[in-house]
Amino acid sequence: MVKAIVGANWGDEGKGKITDMLAKEADIIVRFQDGANAGHTIVNNYGKFALHTLPSGVFYDHTTNVIGNGVALNIPVLFKEVKSLTDQGVPAPKLLISNRAQIVMPYHIEFDALEEARLSGKAFGSTKSGIAPFYSDKYAKIGFQVSELFLPEAELKDKIHRVAEIKNCMLVHLYNSAPINEAALYDTLMEYKEMVEPYVCDTSAFLYKAVKEGKNVLLEGQLGSLKDPDHGIYPMVTSSSTLAGYGAIGAGIPPYEIKQIVTVCKAYSSAVGAGAFVSELFGDEAEELRRRGGDGGEYGATTGRPRRVGWFDCVASKYGLRLQGATDVAFTVLDVLGYLDEIPVCVGYEIDGKVTTDFPVTAELEKAKPVLEVLPGWKEEIRGIHNYKELPENCRRYIEFIEERIGFPITMVSNGPGREDIIYK
Ligand code: GDP
Repeated sequence: MVKAIVGANWGDEGKGKITDMLAKEADIIVRFQDGANAGHTIVNNYGKFALHTLPSGVFYDHTTNVIGNGVALNIPVLFKEVKSLTDQGVPAPKLLISNRAQIVMPYHIEFDALEEARLSGKAFGSTKSGIAPFYSDKYAKIGFQVSELFLPEAELKDKIHRVAEIKNCMLVHLYNSAPINEAALYDTLMEYKEMVEPYVCDTSAFLYKAVKEGKNVLLEGQLGSLKDPDHGIYPMVTSSSTLAGYGAIGAGIPPYEIKQIVTVCKAYSSAVGAGAFVSELFGDEAEELRRRGGDGGEYGATTGRPRRVGWFDCVASKYGLRLQGATDVAFTVLDVLGYLDEIPVCVGYEIDGKVTTDFPVTAELEKAKPVLEVLPGWKEEIRGIHNYKELPENCRRYIEFIEERIGFPITMVSNGPGREDIIYK
């Protein structure tokens, strides 16, 4: 049975925690899109970890962890991450890497930084991990698949040369930077080859067989619906689809095998990077929520930069859940809101004097003002509660108010960062 775990919002909803928790019952965990730009923070019996490329199932002995073909694979980052785990006492994970995954090249990272610098004040707020240049090249058909590391030397050198001709044009003439050193790049690729060789296989065939045998497979998404390049806040999006539907492609399995779509939705809003954010908070109110948010504050797992924060947005979340095709909503980080006397919730957008609950295209979104409804707070610590009925009445009221507005069933409530901090509703 295949289950997807994906985000309803702008990312950082707590997917890593939910995946780590559900991985207990899973055989295989698959990353199917995006790369080391995003990150999950996981707290468990081994300690606190920031994962960027490894699937969140790596903490169990019984799981196989797959880097699917849809991933932007940064090979040195992956192996640095494996080392950071084993250094902290986690057993070496069982890892498989798709022979069709493509490689983040050193020049992708360079292009990302050069372009953000060129855009200056109009920059995207990229993490400069090379993701946009990587996916551009993939679809321009000048990317490098893992399988190509195993080409005969002359063939691989020839491809490096052909790609360098195109890249150098921009490096030299647009960015006034140095051209690619083809010999050094070949050597780097040979180092990459040595690192990945023991793990490379046809992961799509592996997963197909596993699904037929009735194995439990988790597809682990990065970021959230609103960062999807088609359905999100384009162009302030990521460069690969963040939707559960893409899980079939990025893992190479039949779409009809995805039976459950656990969509992680955060009890307030947070976002990184630029782009419209209707229910955003500023000033002291924002600072307080940021400081109290998540587990140790709302600061990026990859970059450490402060995240933007805001009230829960029913319009964006309802849309995000619909695009994912949520079968279950995991409502996370609810414990953080216990300090508030009153909790505003964004229930609609006012655009040009009209109120809507439908999420608009970016140009309209830029004009939207939040329509807020204020709910009473519960002013209590809710960590440690395991039974839904034991939650304070106003806390249940908050959950049920939101459940009605978003129109998808909240089946799990997360009230702390640990594996055991979960309430099944
Ligand atoms: P992801 O990318 O969706 O996995 O999210 P991140 O890891 O970037 O951010 C989620 C943060 O919230 C992490 O620091 C988690 O440890 C933390 N977290 C997850 N669930 C909860 C929760 O229910 N309560 C609290 N307080 N923190 C949580």
